[in-house]
Order: sequence, then C-alpha cells, then structure tokens
Amino acid sequence: VVYREVVGNDSITVRLYGYLLFSGLDKMSTNAPLSLVVGPQRWTAGEPPTDQLFPLESPGYLEQPSSRYPFRIITRIYPADYFDNIWRFSRFSLIAWTLLSLVAGVWVFRKSGRMHSPEQELRRALEHREFIPYIQSVVSGEDKRMTGCEVLMRWQHPRQGIISPDRFIPTAEHSSLIIPMTRVLMEQVREQFSPLVHQLPEGFHFGFNISAAHCKDFSLVEDCRVFIDTFRDNPITLVLELTERELLVADDKTDQLIAELHALGVLIAIDDFGTGNSSLRYLQNFSIDILKIDKSFVSMIGTDALSAHIVDNIIDLANRLDLKLVAEGVETEVQSTYLRTRNVTFLQGYLYGKPMPVSEFLSQLPA
Ligand code: C2E
Ligand code: CA
Ligand code: CA
Repeated sequence: VVYREVVGNDSITVRLYGYLLFSGLDKMSTNAPLSLVVGPQRWTAGEPPTDQLFPLESPGYLEQPSSRYPFRIITRIYPADYFDNIWRFSRFSLIAWTLLSLVAGVWVFRKSGRMHSPEQELRRALEHREFIPYIQSVVSGEDKRMTGCEVLMRWQHPRQGIISPDRFIPTAEHSSLIIPMTRVLMEQVREQFSPLVHQLPEGFHFGFNISAAHCKDFSLVEDCRVFIDTFRDNPITLVLELTERELLVADDKTDQLIAELHALGVLIAIDDFGTGNSSLRYLQNFSIDILKIDKSFVSMIGTDALSAHIVDNIIDLANRLDLKLVAEGVETEVQSTYLRTRNVTFLQGYLYGKPMPVSEFLSQLPA
C-alpha cells in the first residue's frame, strides 16, 4: 500500500509492506472475515486482492471507515454467526439470563395470583377463611329503631384488601363454592354475635343471602338449626334472602327444603323484587314471607313518576298478600318519609348505616 500526502510544493510517500496488513487482518478475522478496502480494491487475508466489493445494502454488511486515511474495514455477519458468536463468547450469560428470566417470570406469575384459576383462588381463600361478614342494620319503618341486620359477604384479600361481592359471588355460584362459603359466613356471625346475645334487641333478625344452588342442599336446614339454637337465650329470627336474578326452579326438593325451613321458623324473602322476570312466579311457587323492594326503585322515589307507581304497586301487592316489606337502598329523608307513610315494615340503606365489620357493628349496640 502506498500512501502519499502533499505538503506545500512537496509530498511525502509512505510504502507499507502488504504482509503486515494481511497478517493483521488475519489475526483479527476470528469471528468474521475482515477485508481492507482502499479505493476500488478489497483485500481479505489469504485471498488475492479483488475489485469485487459486495454491495453496501447486502444483509449483515458492516463497515468502519478510517477518520484520517482513505481506507475502511468491511465485513459481513450472517444471523447464524451472531448465535455462533454469542455461544462461543457469552455462553454463560446466555444460560444465566435465560434461567434468571424464567425464575423472575414464575415469581411474578405467582405473586400476581394468576397461577390459579378464579375458582382455585376462591378455594384457597375459603381455606384461609378470607370471606368475612359485613353487617348492615335494618330499621323498623314505624319508629326507625334497629330491628335486625343483613349479612353481606366481603373477601378480605391478603393483597387486594376488601373485595366487594359482585366481583366473586358469580364465580362462587357457578362452582357451588357458595355453599361452603355461606356456611363459613354463618359460623362467623354465630361466633361473633353469640357472646353479646343479650344486647341484641328482642326478636332481632339476621338476613343471609342464599343462592339458588343452595336451595337444593339439605345441609342448609341443619346450618339454620344450629344458627337458631345458638341464640336460644334471646331468640332471633333467621331470614334467608333468595335473589330473583338467578332462576330458582320449583320442584319437590325445593318445596320440601322450604317446608323444613319454615318448620324451624326461618322466613323466606325475595331479594331485588321486581327486577327479574319471575317475580310473580316466585310468589306463586314458593311460600314467601318477605319482599325486598330493590334499591333501583327506591332511588327513583321523588324523581320519576313511573317508578314511584311501581313502588306503590309493590307495597300494595305485599299488603294484599299479607307479606312483610323491606325497602333497601334508602339514602334520603324524602325516600324514608315516602316509605314510612305507606307503612313499609322495614327500611335498610345508607341513611341508617352502611355495611360494616362485625366488631364495629357490635360496638354500636347499647350495653
Ligand atoms: P343485595 O343482597 O341486594 O344487597 C344490598 C346491596 O346494596 C349491598 O351491596 C349493600 O351494600 C348495598 N346497599 C345497601 N344500602 C345501600 C344504599 O343506601 N345505597 C346504595 N347505593 N347501596 C346500598 P353489596 O354488599 O356490595 O352486595 C352486593 C350483592 O352481592 C348483594 O346484593 C347480594 O346479591 C350479593 N351478596 C352479598 N353477600 C352475599 C352472600 O353472602 N351470599 C350471596 N349469595 N350473595 C351475596
Ligand atoms: Ca340481600
Ligand atoms: Ca338488592
């Protein structure tokens, strides 16, 4: 290689012995064959010089031009070479990072609780007794004194905190886990209320929400019997609320179960009355004691003439059939006055108390 640089009127010429360049290229060509390009010529160690330059856009083409002299080093690296090189030079890191990401992935998966199906997650929560009762008071329509309560399930999740029932009850109902879950709820209410049985108002009633699947399971009768027995020193009334949202089909088994419950003194309520399409069929097929007017109707009182008529009609129906009435979702004095002037038996809603943990509810009882 001859290098010539002009300085003023003179010039300097340097001649480099080609062997030095070849051996340098050769030494550095361990990963990919390097070529030296000067002008139109390409030299690769061990090959004769050629003027065949591969096109710039050919895949894997890399070049490094010199910033001071008119030459560049070029090479081509193929995808297979990448892996080859990684394997040859970074084998340890490759294995270590793969393992590390796997471990990290599994850890995150487990931590985010996605390792289990929703049903398995409910099962785990049931074993750990994470389903707890919240209590909302029910007051008398006559004098607004507390006469009972509704037990509402909450999931006390170790990481997510308190989860509302709308998010897990449907899965629990599909998987029939709702039966043991309700049983655990009843047990907890028994255990926590029984030491204070004498502080409860006379004839206090406990309302539990019961799913359709549960109405075919005779263990419910036994659970109710034990519940009622716990409070025999100050007898309470147990109310089972059946929601209209799920279809409860009348058959011999359900009839017999409801008859046995009635024999124990348990009252049956229809929850969310008027929202489903089987309200009247329910009244016809099951012996019902209580209707719960859904909060969607109560919230319309004073605003919408049509819904107010629905409330009036439900009240009228209940009176004719000699059923007790509970209005749920009472939030304002206007609603309360409207319902009380129409002799609605019981009122329930934020106006009289939100659902709260058992300990908080018990601490409010008169000593
Ligand atoms: P629900 O049986 O109709 O219960 C009444 C719901 O209305 C409760 O919601 C209660 O917190 C809410 N609520 C009460 N007063 C007011 C009010 O003044 N304003 C408003 N906006 N809401 C009020 P929650 O506790 O979230 O329960 C939702 C539903 O989940 C319940 O509706 C019931 O269908 C179901 N559920 C709750 N606990 C259980 C259970 O132990 N078993 C079954 N099967 N279902 C349950
Ligand atoms: Ca209810
Ligand atoms: Ca309701």
